[in-house]
Amino acid sequence: MTQRRVRFAPSPTGPLHMGGVRTALYNYLYAKQAGGKFILRIEDTDSQRFVPGSEEYVIESLNWCGILPDEGVDKDGNIVETPCAEHPHAPYRQSQRKHIYRKYAEELVAKGSAYYAFDTPEELEKLRKEAESEKSSFIYNYKSRTSLKNSLTLPAEEVKRRLSEESGWTIRFQIPENRVVKMNDLIRGDIEVNTSTLDDKVLWKRADELPTYHLANIVDDHLMEITEVIRGEEWLPSLPLHYLLYEAFGWEKSRPQFAHLSLLLKPDGKGKLSKRDGDRLGFPVFPLQWINSDGEISHGYREDGYFPEAFVNILAFLGWNPGTEQEIFTLDELVEVFSLERVVKSGARFNHDKAKWYNQEYLRRKSTKELVEAFRAIEGEYLAGFDDKYVGAAVELIRDRAYFVHEFRSLCDFLFEAPEEYDPAGVNKFWKDEVKEIIPQVADFINSLEPFSKNIIEEKLENFIKTNGWGMGKVMNTLRLFLVGRSSGPRVADIMEILGKKEVSQRISNATARLG
Ligand code: GLU
Repeated sequence: MTQRRVRFAPSPTGPLHMGGVRTALYNYLYAKQAGGKFILRIEDTDSQRFVPGSEEYVIESLNWCGILPDEGVDKDGNIVETPCAEHPHAPYRQSQRKHIYRKYAEELVAKGSAYYAFDTPEELEKLRKEAESEKSSFIYNYKSRTSLKNSLTLPAEEVKRRLSEESGWTIRFQIPENRVVKMNDLIRGDIEVNTSTLDDKVLWKRADELPTYHLANIVDDHLMEITEVIRGEEWLPSLPLHYLLYEAFGWEKSRPQFAHLSLLLKPDGKGKLSKRDGDRLGFPVFPLQWINSDGEISHGYREDGYFPEAFVNILAFLGWNPGTEQEIFTLDELVEVFSLERVVKSGARFNHDKAKWYNQEYLRRKSTKELVEAFRAIEGEYLAGFDDKYVGAAVELIRDRAYFVHEFRSLCDFLFEAPEEYDPAGVNKFWKDEVKEIIPQVADFINSLEPFSKNIIEEKLENFIKTNGWGMGKVMNTLRLFLVGRSSGPRVADIMEILGKKEVSQRISNATARLG
């Protein structure tokens, strides 16, 4: 059996959208499941759309997600440029494979499946404009090609002359007329398209001596022995052309199978999930933060505090499900259960709450030690004076209420800094004369508690309040207000145990002095 070989083939035209990462993930899962290879190829033949930094961004994103290519990227995270045993098809950047493609385009001309076209961009633009003014559109196809300037219409001598003298010509694929192309998609099933709806796409351009996407993509998939092409649905309209190209080259036997993934949709299901939706609704659509050349910042899952495992799990479920109730899967578990059969045909709606829920689930599964490390990684200076035991106790107190580690500080800041102010609404509500009178006795009692552990504190303090016939809520809420500065927070005894007796007494006397 041939080895399964799939590829992720992004174009370096800006930051990778999360839908692109999902494509990479599904390719990765599909390859790993069969012990196959996951290849990264950079499709950078369109120099006009090239955005510096995007290639590095792709590699860093895949790295962060833990979906590492087997081929195409070396150990240092660089695209491989020279063939070696592990990366036999290098270079993996199409711009560096430039010399390969012309021969294939010429081969198709020789076989009668492609032709030279000499129409200038201006001439074609004129035809487009004319068609537009007549409310139709210009298509270079079996009908129009017979009246255009190409090797099918011009005398052989002139073609020869133009080929050597001109530098603006292209090679176009000659789409056969009125034939039904029968295709299969692993997700969508059988598809048929009549060739008369297709146009004669440019395959190769003399001007920059570069292939277009279609030619480079087919030639490279063939040379790299790709067995399945898993890519976004936006490429489905190109599938008939790709089938015809395989046929024209005589490569049908080794033609890969195709699977087109449906789009990620906006939360309301109306249209494609875009960066603007993310900005508007407050969630990232990119794996990592991206700063464009104007200094504009786009949010990234990494910088917004998502764990990579959670992000991967979120992506896996945007368009696939295991058919069971289980929702939490590690990458290795996904490799086990993933199947293209269970990828849905319809678009997958993004749900921000669900995404946060996933992160929370992963947060809950982390050890306190891991969370202390993560907390210190973002609040190093703030936590500098506190040892791991203390920070750990703080984390344990609030971890269940957080979706993200970056929420920790605001949830337990009162354990690291004494309140300077007290929530006015709380003061109004709880700081009444009757409470003022008893607080000194409560403070003395707290001071007498030994050991100062939460169970003892809770039991004895409650007993003390009850025995004196005071209102439990009144006293406890006031104490919380004094210790936290706010009216809400964790249980008073839990807070007290962590702060320790000395700090608790100090905070109570500070508060009474301040509030009078
Ligand atoms: N370079 C194409 C893209 O940017 C790849 C499409 C394919 O996988 O065939 O999406």
